[in-house]
Amino acid sequence: MIGELLRGMATTIKHLFKPPVTIAYPEVKRPVRYRFKGRHELKRYDNGLEKCIGCSLCAAACPADAIFVEAAENTDERRFSPGERYASTYEINMIRCIFCGYCEDACPTEAIVLEDNYELSYYDRASTIYTKDMLIVPVPEGGKPTPQKTPPGLYNRPIPDMEDPK
Ligand code: SF4
Ligand code: SF4
Repeated sequence: MIGELLRGMATTIKHLFKPPVTIAYPEVKRPVRYRFKGRHELKRYDNGLEKCIGCSLCAAACPADAIFVEAAENTDERRFSPGERYASTYEINMIRCIFCGYCEDACPTEAIVLEDNYELSYYDRASTIYTKDMLIVPVPEGGKPTPQKTPPGLYNRPIPDMEDPK
């Protein structure tokens, strides 16, 4: 009995001098793994144009039917993306999403990316629908917000190049 008590005390004392394994979340956040798949972001090019061209391939690839895309035509007077079309509506239902990353794999312009944010909580079902305004990243420094007025004929490809357009 005494021996077991001493062994237990020894285990406790041994752990007193080890660094703590807990972290002070939410003030301190543990870095995620390289392949972690968190909340989606819709990306922009450096000039501020949106990478999404409203093609709906992400929605077609989604096994949970979580994505809704509605596309509209770009014009040189009112351009959102360098492609023929842009997403006028883009929504993800986060309680359907299983964070598989198929949408990211299917996207021809690398517009939708699952990033590091894992802080997703909701008080009602309506809040689980993430809209384009919630998903799209801010305009980068030096870029312009969308819609932009662009020179006629500058963007003439239905699917733009991956790199930043000139
Ligand atoms: S991560 Fe998977 S389940 Fe979630 S929206 Fe993308 S394709 Fe659908
Ligand atoms: S995120 Fe990519 S795959 Fe989805 S509609 Fe936009 S361009 Fe197409």
